[in-house]
Amino acid sequence: DAALAVPEWPDIEQWWPRLDAASEKYTRGVVGIATGSAMYPGAAVLSVGGALAGPAGMVRYAGGAATQVLRHHPSVIATQRVAEAGRVQAWVCGSGLGTDEAAATELRTVLATSLPAVLDADALTLLVDGSMADQLRGRDAPIVVTPHDREFARLAGGEPGDDRVGAALRLASWMNAVVLLKGDRTVVATPAGRAWANPTGTPALATGGTGDVLAGLLGSLLAARVAPERAAVAAAYLHGLAGRAAARSGPVTAPDVAAALREVVPASF
Ligand code: AMP
Ligand code: MG
Repeated sequence: DAALAVPEWPDIEQWWPRLDAASEKYTRGVVGIATGSAMYPGAAVLSVGGALAGPAGMVRYAGGAATQVLRHHPSVIATQRVAEAGRVQAWVCGSGLGTDEAAATELRTVLATSLPAVLDADALTLLVDGSMADQLRGRDAPIVVTPHDREFARLAGGEPGDDRVGAALRLASWMNAVVLLKGDRTVVATPAGRAWANPTGTPALATGGTGDVLAGLLGSLLAARVAPERAAVAAAYLHGLAGRAAARSGPVTAPDVAAALREVVPASF
């Protein structure tokens, strides 16, 4: 497939934002994380962990797991609601959020901003069930959706099938969003018809919570003003490297992946 590109390390390194003497936390980017809940605090802790490995200068958390997030990540500023989060340059919304009316309100608040956003897990369910998918088509700021196969099936009305690249491209075009279709060779597809296949995956990532770490890292790249296609490709690539690094010291859990990300991301200067 001529349209299918495979990223290499020099691409990722080149796209990664650099620090300089004038760098300041706000200008580096502020990422807002609207994930998790009292019921699912782990999703919040993991997505914030992924975000803290990225290039943004600040992470703000908005949701029902603030206590747990702060216990694990004291550098985060936490509030209950997206509307109260203050200055944010990109949002991550979804995993562990739940699918009740309060969760739908949080997603609507994210979509009503003119900021780039990563939508994952429960946010994808809410998009379909709440018929919010058409809200995306008229939106100017970029959206990246990060479905695994079952989430993809819900969004697209059918499994990706054998032609995963074609399926991801069709969904990207229909949603007007970058689609990061997770799997052993994660595919990134854009509405403009470009597609990438990630070469760094490892089955060690097939464990609960690793997708939350990926979404957080991706949000941090968007907040740092990396273009959505590059942010998605780089996040998948580095997430795979982190999975491989973590697997060298035994069975992998999602917090191990977040920790290993800090070792595999490109140097910031
Ligand atoms: P999630 O299902 O949202 O927790 O995301 C799972 C993460 O693990 C995604 O980044 C997948 O690409 C990755 N993953 C799951 N299974 C495999 C596999 N067999 N090989 C490589 N990566 C995988
Ligand atoms: Mg997930």
